[in-house]
Amino acid sequence: MTIRHHPSDDMLQAYAAGTLDEGQRIAVATHMRTCARCSGWVSALEQVGACMLERLPPTAMSMDALDRVLGRLSALPPPPAGAIFDDVPGLPAFVRRYRFGQWTWVGPGVHLRPIELPVDSPTRVFLLKAVPGTRMLQHSHTDLELTCVLSGAFRHQGGYFGPGDFDLGDEDVEHQPLVEPGEDCICLVAMQGKLRLSGLLGRLMQPFVRL
Ligand SMILES: [Zn+2]
Repeated sequence: MTIRHHPSDDMLQAYAAGTLDEGQRIAVATHMRTCARCSGWVSALEQVGACMLERLPPTAMSMDALDRVLGRLSALPPPPAGAIFDDVPGLPAFVRRYRFGQWTWVGPGVHLRPIELPVDSPTRVFLLKAVPGTRMLQHSHTDLELTCVLSGAFRHQGGYFGPGDFDLGDEDVEHQPLVEPGEDCICLVAMQGKLRLSGLLGRLMQPFVRL
């Protein structure tokens, strides 16, 4: 797997510092499952953080502090048995532990499957699946959109994005993704805000787009 596009250093630092929200954390962690470069960089950052923690004077903790941490770790159920993710190659095991909604149609050739987060998050997380040849409308975003490709590929003004690649969209990035020939392109998307469609056709379509 050749990975061409990575999260920014700022985003990896925010991941290591634990300041990303749950939805953004899922998108960055999905990329790191296939990217030795970014996972190595985050491990190094975490080791630096651990060394700094060791030098801090000890602080008294409440009696139930450990129980509360362990409770959060075990809040997610084990991944369901069976073949319900057979149509999503490349979906990491840790994501399979979340609760998923049903695939729903959001536009010609495009389906969305929501991932339900156990905590309040300003970021929505979902799988987006588009058939080869799908051309999305030119758009930007009202806020941050993080995308990690699980299978298939797309291309836009920022280049070619295949499995493992990470793409960031925001209000300054205008793009029009085109799904490459071959197989369905499935991405994990963590999105704040909504799409802002461009051009006359986009503005006409905006009230009907369910993203
Ligand atoms: Zn990377």
